[in-house]
Amino acid sequence: MNTLRQLKEELPLINKIHIKQLRLRRILGVNDTIVPADVEGTLAYVKKNTVPAKEGRKCVDGRYTSKTSRGMLARAGGDCGYVMALMAINNKKKLGMTPEQCFNIVYKVIQQRMHGPFCIHTDHHVDPETGKEHTNIHKTIIGCGHLSKAANQKFREKYDVANKDMKKVIAYVRNLAEINNNIDMVNLEGDHKEQGVLLIDSEEYTVSATDLHKMYFIYDKARDENFMRKLVKVMDIPGVTFEDMQEESDKQLQVTLHLLAKGLPLYHVTYTYKTPKVEYITTII
Ligand SMILES: [Zn+2]
Ligand SMILES: [Zn+2]
Repeated sequence: MNTLRQLKEELPLINKIHIKQLRLRRILGVNDTIVPADVEGTLAYVKKNTVPAKEGRKCVDGRYTSKTSRGMLARAGGDCGYVMALMAINNKKKLGMTPEQCFNIVYKVIQQRMHGPFCIHTDHHVDPETGKEHTNIHKTIIGCGHLSKAANQKFREKYDVANKDMKKVIAYVRNLAEINNNIDMVNLEGDHKEQGVLLIDSEEYTVSATDLHKMYFIYDKARDENFMRKLVKVMDIPGVTFEDMQEESDKQLQVTLHLLAKGLPLYHVTYTYKTPKVEYITTII
């Protein structure tokens, strides 16, 4: 019989085993099952679902279906993720903008430069299709985890934004989306079944899900950084640099992955021409 101390020392290994006793799980701090890395399976999936990159953004959420989002740039929170990063910089550097002003600045750049509609999403847990009972199982204000976690009091420090400011901006976008066709509020269906996180380093290709039983969180890192570079340049706010945006974005993404993708393997995806390569990097803790 192992002592508790021994068990704790062996936690990385134990984490991989499904511990059934609730009491033991609690003592050991085992909350999530660790999904073992599957490089071959993931490579096969990436090969099958690789599509050319195209204009438009979406969230890292794995529940997008290919018909609505094929090839779009996937980044946490979609366009509202850029607003959230700007809000964090605004806080830190005391730039004096309101959450609504932060939204307006990002929105205007996207409109003026014709990057398509401003993208944000919710899900059926929070916004059931009309006629269905409103369950809101998450007791949250929007179905995008990146935005709703930042609006939750428990997590505000980690995201560098005040939760009340996130609530304000979400309410503001929701209102605008009702009357403005340039705001695309996608309503995702189904439950999270992501089995890994794909960090894609390509400007030409991305991965688009076709099978909602096998899904991944998708982050188009290279394209996101390019887009942020352009965004910062056109926004032209004194004191806001690309490096600031990148730092806050990375930080906010890490918090969201920690909260939503704990226990999942993170893979790095690169392409040589159209041939993908998949490497396992780490498991999200
Ligand atoms: Zn949900
Ligand atoms: Zn989302």
